[in-house]
Amino acid sequence: MAQKAAQLLKPVIVPNFDVLSWRDEPEFVTAWLNNHEAIHVQLRVGANLTGIDLSLVNFADDEQFSEWMDDHAQEHLDLRRIYGIT
Ligand SMILES: [Zn+2]
Repeated sequence: MAQKAAQLLKPVIVPNFDVLSWRDEPEFVTAWLNNHEAIHVQLRVGANLTGIDLSLVNFADDEQFSEWMDDHAQEHLDLRRIYGIT
């Protein structure tokens, strides 16, 4: 992992938002989505990846939720591969 990380051209400073906490309250969900997207934005810079805006979703809509989960999981797989995280 260190070798892969050392090969990155761009240093990345990832915001230290608490995305492990969760509450089913609209304001909390909006803040969580914005914080999560901010983390992904920085990770994409270092990985030279593009991605969808992960903050733009309505989790109350089953189809949007399912699509978001798939897109999000795929991006995490891509990030892990690029950063060499196994
Ligand atoms: Zn994520």
